[in-house]
Amino acid sequence: MSEIVDKWVARLKGNLEPIGTMTHWQRMEAAFHLQPHDIVPVAPELDYWQITYAGYTHKEIYNDVDKTTDACIKTWADLRTDAIWMYVDISHQIENFIPAEKRPHYFVHRGDKDYLLFKPIADTLDEAIALYESKAYEKYLADSRAVTHYTPHMLQLLEFQEKMDRVVPVLVGAATPTNYAETIVEVQKFVKWMITEPKKIRHYLELALEERLAALDFYYEYGYKNGLRFFCCFGGARTWGPKQLDQFADVDHRFVEKAKKLFPHILWHHCGRNLPKSMEILANLDGIHAIQYDMPYYTMDVSYFEWFEWAAKLLAGKKCACNAPTTQMVAYDTPEEIDQIIKDFIRATTPHTTAIVMPGCEIDSYAPVENVKTMIAATRKYGRYPIRME
Ligand SMILES: [Zn+2]
Repeated sequence: MSEIVDKWVARLKGNLEPIGTMTHWQRMEAAFHLQPHDIVPVAPELDYWQITYAGYTHKEIYNDVDKTTDACIKTWADLRTDAIWMYVDISHQIENFIPAEKRPHYFVHRGDKDYLLFKPIADTLDEAIALYESKAYEKYLADSRAVTHYTPHMLQLLEFQEKMDRVVPVLVGAATPTNYAETIVEVQKFVKWMITEPKKIRHYLELALEERLAALDFYYEYGYKNGLRFFCCFGGARTWGPKQLDQFADVDHRFVEKAKKLFPHILWHHCGRNLPKSMEILANLDGIHAIQYDMPYYTMDVSYFEWFEWAAKLLAGKKCACNAPTTQMVAYDTPEEIDQIIKDFIRATTPHTTAIVMPGCEIDSYAPVENVKTMIAATRKYGRYPIRME
């Protein structure tokens, strides 16, 4: 039971202006499963942005669960997006690998709106392997922010979701094994070692997978059992070439094998410059329903309309396509440009598959409020089915 949640439920329950003919939850569920729905959903990943939108600084919420939850619900109550993304930062994910007294060295707060920066926690592959083999992540878990902040925040949002009778889903995500393996040592080093030390990398990835599979049990026990149904996999391997994908991407697929048995609605987060081959693999990966993809690969000379259309055809009959505008556009473009890219995305995508307006990565903390509001308004303007194409 949480006071902050009850305060918001008392204010909002029974007082929500209807949007379209479905609830946010129904709209998201239909889009995920390629079923008819009223309006294209809009579900930007607002995690850091919503903190400052609600009037808090990042430092202020860092150790305050109630304020973190308050920010997410306030933002949703104002903007009425089709999902609530919980707040998450890198400390939630890796503090439990680090003894408490050493943590200040690894995490750096800059300005009030800035992302939490971190330093890689292992310099060599052997060090990274030793962290896993010694199960450091279990040893330092109890007082880490995964336990003191992330979990209670997730539980509060799920309590809100359930007390609001599932009118809007809460989206909770977990990094996949490749994402963890890269984060612990830094991506560039990891990519180099895939070529120079493939045997050790295989061992390292298997260890990362083992930890991630155990983490899924946590998400089932604390998430699913408290109402969590929409689960996001934050994929890694974003800078891998085709050969590395063939060689090592199976660890992520084994992670999905388990996740799909636990959660009915699974989103895959695939940000950055998307290699066409990685998109093809994801399009055919059984168990994920929606793909949050991002920007065309360096070698692709295409307009955004063509890029959206290419992805939509690839995902046709298989997955829901989530994109547009890019994170960078939301931060730097004008509202007119945001409006145009959403029109393009919806018109390029919906002849082939379902669409969700969801930038490829999290919304930048500095993104203007007007741009985020434009994104929501434009989706509701152009996204009503049947979609107008002229
Ligand atoms: Zn991302």
